[in-house]
Amino acid sequence: MKTEGLYINQKWVAAKKSRTIINPANGDKLAVVAEADAKETTKAIEAARAAFDSGPWREYTAQRRGRVLFAIAEMVRKHAKELARLETLNMGKPLAESDFDMADTATCFEYFGGMATKIMGETNPVPDNAISLTLKEPVGVAGLIIPWNYPIMMLAWKVAPALAAGCTVILKPAEQTPLTALKFAGWLAEEVPDLPPGVFNLVTGDGETCGNTLVRSPLIDKIAFTGGTETGRHIIQNIGQTEVKKISLELGGKSPHIFFADADMAAAVDGALFGSFINQGEVCSATSRFLVEKKIHDEFVDALIKQSKKVKMGDPLDASVKMGPLVTHEHRDRVAKMVDAAKKEGAHVALGGKAPSGAGAYYEPTILTKVTPKMKIFRDEVFGPVVTVTPFKDEAEAIALANDTPYGLAGAVWSRDIFRALRVMKQIRAGIVWVNSSQPCYCEAPWGGYKQSGMGRELGKYGIEEFLETKQVHINLNEAPLGWY
Ligand code: NAD
Repeated sequence: MKTEGLYINQKWVAAKKSRTIINPANGDKLAVVAEADAKETTKAIEAARAAFDSGPWREYTAQRRGRVLFAIAEMVRKHAKELARLETLNMGKPLAESDFDMADTATCFEYFGGMATKIMGETNPVPDNAISLTLKEPVGVAGLIIPWNYPIMMLAWKVAPALAAGCTVILKPAEQTPLTALKFAGWLAEEVPDLPPGVFNLVTGDGETCGNTLVRSPLIDKIAFTGGTETGRHIIQNIGQTEVKKISLELGGKSPHIFFADADMAAAVDGALFGSFINQGEVCSATSRFLVEKKIHDEFVDALIKQSKKVKMGDPLDASVKMGPLVTHEHRDRVAKMVDAAKKEGAHVALGGKAPSGAGAYYEPTILTKVTPKMKIFRDEVFGPVVTVTPFKDEAEAIALANDTPYGLAGAVWSRDIFRALRVMKQIRAGIVWVNSSQPCYCEAPWGGYKQSGMGRELGKYGIEEFLETKQVHINLNEAPLGWY
């Protein structure tokens, strides 16, 4: 098996160390990839810096940058089948979901390709004989650090707006899931020939060494990070030790999912499952903390169990499978430990609660009932196919329970009473709230969290702002001297 290198300045560069990438469905070796040390990571940073400061990229018109992004979208669409299969092999998500991810990835590049020509400045009505302008400029060199749950989609969410804004980038995928990003990089030179060298660089490696080198580098102007809240805190601290730089953080969540008695039961149960079991529950916005009105609690739990038994778990390459293995065996063991701890605290396992026998990092769809706000499982992000059910008596209690968390990424509410649904929507302290649904996500709409779920927004017009600086320009129209002295 050849070792995949680092992609720096449009060339493949070998690293001293390497890491073996494993298929979580069966433990097979999939690839050997470079594990960049600090020095090797710095080479990529220097390439991005030089490409921003003195390369041709900053002279590109917005139209031309946009066309580069359209070419990337076309490249992703052309290779979508191969990429989807590789994503599934590396990450474990069902192939049907990987297919959607590739379409979303291409769409994201198209969306931000179009936005390149819509980056607008302003004129400011200053009280003087002058023209005051606000200009938007690229923030510079961006370090992009992404997690393992949606590997290529997370690449798109960061690389697309950064390039549209005119930045140069160094991307660091999660150490567990670099394979689709490596393929992506491998096709660029040939299929997107108008992307100059050094504008897109890719380093593979761990967080402590490779990620931290990006975070601490004085050559980088902006860090865009998606990952755990703990890592986010670490990054803020590390930056603050030596520097001030722009930063946006998309972090974890423990999102509430409120079911009122007047909800359409069939649609609500269907939404409950989709909102918490897609991608094996390894979704930052998973609405897996179910809050259920007391009078429908038992009926709801019965329907949930019945429906969850239909979730087909197995080889994620099988098109009929809807739940694959978790990303690694270590992560599966972590999920199992959290469920065991919840049991000890008094949670009742209504379904699942164990790993099936046999190979692969699988964990059964799990429903925990009798969960109270005092239990850790009510508060801590599981990042696996585990939902908790907590009853509530009225709207006020539902809202209080929903907001009883340090996170604020997402939330969902089911009710046929439009007044109540919207009242509750307004009260939920989260960056994304779904009414009578859960999880739809579009490039056109902003994504990000309140409270400890992060800072800044991705996607929509907000997503590109994160990669732009704002410059005030004052043009004096008085020819005469000021005459102050
Ligand atoms: P993680 O925080 O462990 O790792 C994320 C990335 O950060 C990886 O590339 C990792 O190598 C890197 N990293 C780790 N330590 C670092 C350090 N000290 N300095 C710099 N980089 C470092 O997260 P994960 O386990 O890969 O992903 C799961 C987490 O991501 C969950 O908490 C999930 O909620 C969150 N997530 C959030 C969103 C969102 O949009 N809010 C989306 C997807 C995932």
